[in-house]
Amino acid sequence: MNRRPMMGLIFIQLKKGKTMRPFFDLAKLTERKIGHGFLIDNVPLSKILECNHSPVYVTSLNAVAERVNIYQTTLKKYFKNNSIFYAMKANFSNPILKQVQETTAGVDIVSIGEWRAALKAGFSPQKICFAGVGKKEEEWREAIEGGLGYLNVEHLDELKDILNYISDNINKLKFIPVISLRLNPCLEVKTHPHLKTGALDSKFGILFEHFEEWVINIKQVFPNSQAFQEWISPLKGIHVHVGSQLMENKIFSLIIEKILECASFMFENNIKPYHIDLGGGLGVPYEGVSLDGTDISVHVEFFCSTLINLAKKYKKLHILWGNQCENLFVCFEPGRSIVASSTVFLTKVLYTKHNSNDHNFCFVDGAMNDFPRPSIYNAKHQCEVVNFENSEFLKQNSLRKKIHWQIVGPVCESGDFLSKDALLPKLFKNDVLAFFEAGAYCRSMASHYNLRKLPAEIFIKNGKIIEIIEN
Ligand SMILES: *Cc1c(COP(=O)(O)O)cnc(C)c1O
Repeated sequence: MNRRPMMGLIFIQLKKGKTMRPFFDLAKLTERKIGHGFLIDNVPLSKILECNHSPVYVTSLNAVAERVNIYQTTLKKYFKNNSIFYAMKANFSNPILKQVQETTAGVDIVSIGEWRAALKAGFSPQKICFAGVGKKEEEWREAIEGGLGYLNVEHLDELKDILNYISDNINKLKFIPVISLRLNPCLEVKTHPHLKTGALDSKFGILFEHFEEWVINIKQVFPNSQAFQEWISPLKGIHVHVGSQLMENKIFSLIIEKILECASFMFENNIKPYHIDLGGGLGVPYEGVSLDGTDISVHVEFFCSTLINLAKKYKKLHILWGNQCENLFVCFEPGRSIVASSTVFLTKVLYTKHNSNDHNFCFVDGAMNDFPRPSIYNAKHQCEVVNFENSEFLKQNSLRKKIHWQIVGPVCESGDFLSKDALLPKLFKNDVLAFFEAGAYCRSMASHYNLRKLPAEIFIKNGKIIEIIEN
């Protein structure tokens, strides 16, 4: 795959060093004109501008595939039985789902709407993992009856209802999903409060002591241990996902300890945990992901080697898993780290306004409804001018001096901003701005607020535009 620029211009990487964006090439400031200073998987910006959509998300599908492959190949080195379930809530656009499906990975869903979108994109029900903190009975029933492969439960009453339903319908069901208990490991992680999911004040997951108590109590309802074992047999796994945009490795060994503690408790109580789901959560820094995917391989290697090493202390679990954990199924559910850097959000300048020397506003045609992370999470996305409408201007040094801009949209809210502080040169009508790391939780969180249209999407593969979704 040729990722080097081809236009004969002098391109620079967005940032020198180990974090860079695969499949994106941006020329020096003075070369960014008439659509030739920015390439996405070798497609020049001019080709994208010809499609006449703004604001627009532009995605390199090769970038998506490459990141899934790095997850898969690294995980395979450690565990023969394994899977990657792409968390589609990060970005559910059909071409992305189809691309993930082609890599043979599975998909992680959190609603029946996502279930249907996954089937439409061609995923086999057996490769779908249904997670979510408040599933309705009609949702899990539809999925189980449709042959769902994996089901993660977040509530002990939900677990009971599902196990009862399965045992009542055991002859009717073509396939019994592997059920995993989502454990709340009660750990404090460093991330945005809205992205934390594994602490005492979190609504997610089940506390280990609640599970212990539940098992002791529910066993007594059954006439004998055989009946209990049969009823509980679909419960085969433990799942953890402690939050998103995580950057610390230390926390991961504490998580593994909690999983192993829970697994040995299960084993002692005739429940056989053969399945460990390590969730998603790998963060993506402001500067983008590493060119060769080492951010992913280091993360997966750390998790897997820690699991194998710490499991050595639990002799009883070896009976189940084997000495090298060869009978254990291990999976991850990454979302952000797969798609974030695959996509840029492009928006055009409408006009500018200078309230004072320090208050420079640039109005663009994209808004918080199109690109919601800055206003919802106060997220900072790198912003660059990728096309100057007036190329004459590039020759004038005085105009190219950078100033601090607030990039704001047309929505009637003070909270409608795309950047509070973008250091950019003087901007003019129709200049094109790009926001990077726009692939995760951006398009999928877009709304019709102010009755605005959803942004369009352009998908590129192997150096060609292959699909445009107008929305
Ligand atoms: C959101 C979510 C993920 C994906 O998280 P990322 O931070 O995007 O990797 C994985 N698993 C579950 C259960 C989730 O809710």
